[in-house]
Amino acid sequence: MVKVNEKVEVHDVEVLKWARELIESSPSYHVAGNEVVHSVDKNEIWRGEECLNLLAPEAPTSSIVRKLLSSEVGIRAAEGHIGPKQRWFAGTKYIDEIEALCMELLKKAFRVNYADHRLIASMIGNMAVYATMTEPGDPIMSMNQPFGGHSSNRLDGPAGIRGLDIHNIPMDPFELGVDLTEFEKVAREVKPKLVTLGASMTLFPFPVKEMHDIISEWDGKIFFDGAHQLGLIGAGMFQDPLKEGASVLTGSAGKTFSGPQSGIILWDEAEITEPLTDTIFPALAATHQVNRVAALAVSAAEFLAYGKEYMGQIVSNAKALGKALNDRGVTVLGAHKDYTETHQVIVDVSEYGGGYDVAQRLAEANIITNKNLIPKDRPEDWDEPSGLRIGTTEMTRYGMKEQEMEYTADLIVSLLEKKENAEQVKEKVVAFRRSFNKIHYCFED
Ligand SMILES: *Cc1c(COP(=O)(O)O)cnc(C)c1O
Repeated sequence: MVKVNEKVEVHDVEVLKWARELIESSPSYHVAGNEVVHSVDKNEIWRGEECLNLLAPEAPTSSIVRKLLSSEVGIRAAEGHIGPKQRWFAGTKYIDEIEALCMELLKKAFRVNYADHRLIASMIGNMAVYATMTEPGDPIMSMNQPFGGHSSNRLDGPAGIRGLDIHNIPMDPFELGVDLTEFEKVAREVKPKLVTLGASMTLFPFPVKEMHDIISEWDGKIFFDGAHQLGLIGAGMFQDPLKEGASVLTGSAGKTFSGPQSGIILWDEAEITEPLTDTIFPALAATHQVNRVAALAVSAAEFLAYGKEYMGQIVSNAKALGKALNDRGVTVLGAHKDYTETHQVIVDVSEYGGGYDVAQRLAEANIITNKNLIPKDRPEDWDEPSGLRIGTTEMTRYGMKEQEMEYTADLIVSLLEKKENAEQVKEKVVAFRRSFNKIHYCFED
């Protein structure tokens, strides 16, 4: 129970205090505003130019995409569906062009009948799916966090908010995939209306077709949350869930797809078009940031032009990094299956102090990764899990190839095994980054 006048704060109180004091001690609000710009500039130099960015959910956008994100159209109101009769506001003739181009480019990039461009985040796409395809109390199945499951499909995310009865998809901790035999048993008992596949920690494809065949008996549907794999799916580098039986696919535009951070939703079936589109608007999106839609459209065009080559290199680099780490004595998950079929490499760092500690130490040396739960952890080990997740998207777009993955592994291992301290490794990282500062696989500005 919160008492009267008690202050509750979820955020770190020290950081908030820092900001409050800075604002209070600024001679004017103009100066306070400049402090924001100063923080942005510091981040741009540090993360943008001096770090080895190996965070799996990140990707650098091209300079055209970045310019579009600050374009004039970003102040325009355009809620509704495309076309003059479908919107509340007049003055949208060029906005209709932008949005129609975006939608058609997305359909082409993913070879689908329907796409929507109005999701501010992929989380909202997942909410749209649960709102459209389930009723409160319905049973669904999704993966739990130690196997890579994401909060959006669990109790603490949109699936929980919808009041769904969530069951675990049985997983094989060694093969890092679905245990089909167990799945069939549990599914026959639970009779899920929806089975959600896709994950934040994602190395290998899922048996979409086999699972679809099982749940079709009671008309269960597959929803594929391809937040991470979206670009790989578009480029044909990963399984194509919609062609294997999934009814709907959501994804993050800013992960492997390498567009502006936001969400994309894709489907082929005519029957879900109206309910899904009518949930996106007017339920979950109103002002959907047309500057972002323009940026997304150009990202899709860049993806159509360069996606195959770019996504192929991401996966080759991830395999090379997995092997290089394994060769240097680090425990890499999925080593018996060539490490990965995505942009991710997952390592067990429990012998080096665990995921939290290792990620913090690497960050001191300008190597940016994240702690991650792995199958041997429990969901409640979230603060101090055993794993580390490494992604190759960003450094691939900066031009790195397999050879650079060897050196990346050297830097990581040198720090893990304390052959060098963070300061020494950092110096090498900064020098290394100097040769990789141009964005590839995009249109010239
Ligand atoms: C990142 C992620 C999301 C959320 O995507 P946002 O675009 O950040 O909203 C949803 N599901 C999975 C599996 C993810 O990894």
